[in-house]
Amino acid sequence: MYSVKEAESIILTQIQPRQETEKVSLEAAFGRILAEDISSDLDFPYWDNSAMDGYAVRYEDVKDTNPENPVTLKIIAEIPAGKVPEKIIQPGETARIFTGAMLPAGSDTIIMQENTDKKGERVAILIPPEKIGLFVRQRGTFYRAGNTLLKAGIALNSPEIAVLATAQATELTVFSRPQVAIFSTGDELINPDETLQKGQIIDSNRYALTAFVASLGAIPRPLGIIKDNPDLLRETIRKAINSSAIVLSTGGVSVGDYDYIEGILGELGGKILIGSVAIQPGKPLTFATFPNGCIYFGIPGNPVSALVCCWRFVQMAIKKLSGLTEYQNKFLRVVTRDTLKSKGQREVYLWGKIEIIEGVYQFQLASGQHNSANLINLAGTNALAIIPQGKTTIQAGETVEVLTGLPL
Ligand code: AMP
Ligand code: MG
Repeated sequence: MYSVKEAESIILTQIQPRQETEKVSLEAAFGRILAEDISSDLDFPYWDNSAMDGYAVRYEDVKDTNPENPVTLKIIAEIPAGKVPEKIIQPGETARIFTGAMLPAGSDTIIMQENTDKKGERVAILIPPEKIGLFVRQRGTFYRAGNTLLKAGIALNSPEIAVLATAQATELTVFSRPQVAIFSTGDELINPDETLQKGQIIDSNRYALTAFVASLGAIPRPLGIIKDNPDLLRETIRKAINSSAIVLSTGGVSVGDYDYIEGILGELGGKILIGSVAIQPGKPLTFATFPNGCIYFGIPGNPVSALVCCWRFVQMAIKKLSGLTEYQNKFLRVVTRDTLKSKGQREVYLWGKIEIIEGVYQFQLASGQHNSANLINLAGTNALAIIPQGKTTIQAGETVEVLTGLPL
């Protein structure tokens, strides 16, 4: 049995970012992962321009002005944003200018209009600028043409989309989304639209995993419920490993008489690298690779175990495979509002919620029974508190390491 850290490292070693890419338009780029470095052949700002509504002046002319005896300048032009200045500012002259407009040649400083007094064709400069270049956005000071603007491997959200638009990157190379096959195993399982007979269990994992995979930007391929029948399981697994980058099955990985998955993975040429992990819940987690590169996670069937395995292990695997550079799990240290208990034998994950209380993140245990078969109190959960192996109690008010599963 591997520790959680060992299992993590075994999994990550097996997964390389995929090579498949595709072109998307900027409009369709939100949520995708950039597969190329982006640079621009434009400087930012493109040219010297005004950061204020005011007057473009020569610093020399106005540096000694004062409110009692102000320098006055002749207004020779008006330059709104978007207009190319035509005149050169000579000594004693100025141009009315607006935010974003190009700086006219000859000028080097902007006086904000609040510090001026316009009288007809002339304007009095009441307060001297603190320095030459004040309120001028100099060409190339935000970015120099040719440097890398965005690196391959980042997820594209609204800030990056803004940068791409400005760089005129209207068509982008992104990683294609990996396909993830998902199925549930168990003779007891029925679909949510079937009538429950005695002894049966409604398949919730398939839906939970489908949502989980979609939330990571991968493409879920739900394959339904497969009975605990070795032939059916073998056929399903064979198809899944030949058509998907990752396969997630739930159930059938414990040591019961009906737990066939591990044996079938071996029969189909899979290399089983992990058979169990010292984690609670989630101990029977099985991890295998296939010669064609397919990655297989045999996830225990209990709904809470499945969630813990997905958040702790599958999440980073899908992220890394998808091409994200930042695929590592995000752990926070926060104060727990509840006392957290463990038997100390395995690394224990307790489900709950990170909440913001008076501006500070705190962990609150999900209410109700903490039993890996209790999926009812999963609702509202966004994080897992971790009790390290060997530790039995973390008191309310102490800090605990927390794994975020959903965006906070
Ligand atoms: P297993 O890992 O197959 O031994 O299943 C462990 C427990 O999880 C059993 O109580 C199953 O009935 C339950 N279970 C297995 N698969 C699912 C599923 N897809 N949805 C909900 N519960 C499940
Ligand atoms: Mg089962």
